[in-house]
Amino acid sequence: MDQLRSVCRQAISENKAAFIIGYTEDKHHHLKPFIAHNVEETEKLTFNCNAVNNLAVFIHRFHNPSQGKIGIVLKPCDLKAINALVQENRVKREDLYVIGVNCSGVVKDQNKEFSKENTQIKCRSCASKTPAWFDVVVGESAEFELPEDDMAILMKQIDEMTPEQRLEFWNAEFEKCLKCYACREVCPMCYCEQCIADKTEPRWIESSSTTRANFTWNMIRAFHQAGRCIGCGECDRVCPADIPLSLLNRKMGMVAFKEFGYRHGTDMNAPTLIGTFSTSDHEEFIR
Ligand code: SF4
Ligand code: SF4
Ligand code: SF4
Repeated sequence: MDQLRSVCRQAISENKAAFIIGYTEDKHHHLKPFIAHNVEETEKLTFNCNAVNNLAVFIHRFHNPSQGKIGIVLKPCDLKAINALVQENRVKREDLYVIGVNCSGVVKDQNKEFSKENTQIKCRSCASKTPAWFDVVVGESAEFELPEDDMAILMKQIDEMTPEQRLEFWNAEFEKCLKCYACREVCPMCYCEQCIADKTEPRWIESSSTTRANFTWNMIRAFHQAGRCIGCGECDRVCPADIPLSLLNRKMGMVAFKEFGYRHGTDMNAPTLIGTFSTSDHEEFIR
């Protein structure tokens, strides 16, 4: 914590960053996003296994290069969102001051102690626990017991279903959707200035939570994330209806890798999947 506060203090006092997007602790010892605008406020910054939010989602809201660089505290997994946003020309690498954190996993539920059962599934497949790149890095990562990959088990079950059973499964899940759009708000890759769900002329998706509207909303969002989702699992975390949303995006990502050898968010200099054409691309689906 001292190291984190020290580098953040230095970043602001030496004008390396105009402000720092990080985490602070509330009275329940939960961590929540916090912006330190000055040296004094850096004393409120902290980091531990409750740092669940992917702070890259705030880049869009505070991106104003004329104010100076955005300082941002990032776990190694969240850094993938920055790579992806650079790939999609949403932000420039040079407009950021990245404070990478060596990570030892984060909890699923902030009300419970960190344990094998209370560790996010994404931590299972975390390649390094050390940020791939940064301006400055803090902390040390430690080994921890890996959680079960319940999502992979569910995905296998869904893969084994007939198309009719699969439709029934997802219809039943989407039935629960409240149309709260928390999944969109928390996603670093959902950044359209006007989401198709909010358009009224024409109205593409009914605003009420009907079977048809829920299905349309969730399928449109899944397709908009195809080959773009960086797998941070934030949509799963915030969905009040417990819909396994990241499963759809994970599956799409697996297809993008199988068909095109492409993984979004791993190389900020790589072209995007949708923005690239190669003569070796499979074309049998074009009729
Ligand atoms: S996926 Fe890796 S970097 Fe992300 S929270 Fe888990 S251990 Fe930390
Ligand atoms: S896991 Fe969910 S929140 Fe994270 S990038 Fe993918 S769709 Fe967005
Ligand atoms: S977070 Fe869940 S309930 Fe809310 S709109 Fe997204 S899928 Fe529906």
